[in-house]
Amino acid sequence: MSNLAVPVSSSGSMLLGVMGDPIAHSKSPVMHQAALRQTGIPGDYVRLHITADQLGEAILSIRTLGFRGVNVTVPHKVKVMAFLDEIDPAAAAVGAVNTIVNNNGRLTGYNTDGIGYIRSLKEEAVPELSGKTVVVLGAGGAARGVIHALLTEGPRTVIVANRTKETASKLCEEWQKLGSLEACSLEELSEWVPQADVVINTTSVGMSPRIEESPLDTSLLPGGTVVSDLIYNPLKTRLLREAELRGCRIHSGLGMFVYQGAYAFEYWTGQPAPIPAMRNAVLEQLDGQE
Ligand code: NAP
Repeated sequence: MSNLAVPVSSSGSMLLGVMGDPIAHSKSPVMHQAALRQTGIPGDYVRLHITADQLGEAILSIRTLGFRGVNVTVPHKVKVMAFLDEIDPAAAAVGAVNTIVNNNGRLTGYNTDGIGYIRSLKEEAVPELSGKTVVVLGAGGAARGVIHALLTEGPRTVIVANRTKETASKLCEEWQKLGSLEACSLEELSEWVPQADVVINTTSVGMSPRIEESPLDTSLLPGGTVVSDLIYNPLKTRLLREAELRGCRIHSGLGMFVYQGAYAFEYWTGQPAPIPAMRNAVLEQLDGQE
């Protein structure tokens, strides 16, 4: 992989960026700049504040300006798909794109959120997911990426619990051929959480500044359960703090953020991503915030 020529633009450097609205607080630039520095690839990764009405023009300009690729974040992950030449099948199934690769003017969209999350979960908490019973709290955009990637690991059952049960039911029906899926409401969680090997929060409940909220009654958790939260600000949410006190193994969303970026970096550069440098760069930013 590392022997491949790095696809820099005709200017001799690799242009990368992130499009979103708002974008000022994105930690992607600091993470990818650290990755470029660490790998010695000449280039830059810039913040691009793009509003919904500018999205089509902004995507066209990727080719004109010679960007090798961009990340796409809130609120453009779904709408951006209409402007691309090709969509990776997994991103098409999830229904969202967070990474675009420009191959000589041909734009391909990928979704690295779900695969990034699973890589992080396996490396940091649960090396083997096959045969496991997994409860996923939430059925929104992030949940779709996580559940789609999770189903490729052969879990015994995935229980999707959502405030609006209908959204969970629709998701389970859509992907019933991919594995064993069960929908439930948040009220029905008492039935499922005690038998779960892994519980994953994909809702925004507990995210800064509302850090005293929790998506789950943690008295339902037996010690030994792995409890994972996609939120990384704060690094230890109330859910994770309480789960840890109950003897559960905890896993934060920082790894997901780092690994979704690592996959994107690998798609753009053809080089292995320097994970520790990327993680440290984000951690330094998070520390600086407190
Ligand atoms: P989303 O599409 O808006 O989905 C939000 C989900 O949370 C829905 O299932 C929603 O349920 C549920 N929810 C929201 N407020 C709730 C409440 N008060 N009580 C119970 N359920 C509630 O958002 P998303 O894009 O999936 O993002 C979700 C979270 O994942 C955010 O915190 C985001 O920061 C995090 N995330 C982290 C990473 C990472 O790299 N670590 C990447 C992506 C996302 P309803 O269907 O009932 O509304």
